[in-house]
Amino acid sequence: MDPNVKAILERAKATATYAAEKAGRMADAATKKAGDMAASAKLNLQIFDLNTEIDGVYKEIGKIVYLAHTGDDSHTAELDDKFAQIDERLAKIAEVRETIANTKTTLECPVCGKECSKDDAFCSKCGHKLG
Ligand SMILES: [Zn+2]
Repeated sequence: MDPNVKAILERAKATATYAAEKAGRMADAATKKAGDMAASAKLNLQIFDLNTEIDGVYKEIGKIVYLAHTGDDSHTAELDDKFAQIDERLAKIAEVRETIANTKTTLECPVCGKECSKDDAFCSKCGHKLG
């Protein structure tokens, strides 16, 4: 592998934060819980925008890595900042996904699986006590 690119990849590994990993795991859990699409449409749009921004940063990183490959490593110092920008946005996405999960107005009955309102005291299908 190109030594310049190898150096960049090592740098990327070194700056990868635990927070970003944690955000990823939280996002997975939140995605499974997210249900009320109508109420969360705006939040989903926010996630879409954040992902679009992340794609833009990935592109910038790719260009810097390529320039380093050609011997021009004058921009490699900017990489830490780019990585931080992505970490930040991933954390924000996890936050928004949490919000979506929390704005959900329904609750799945643990016994029969029926989607009940969060306000229901008992499941309307099987009568299991909710909450
Ligand atoms: Zn039930």
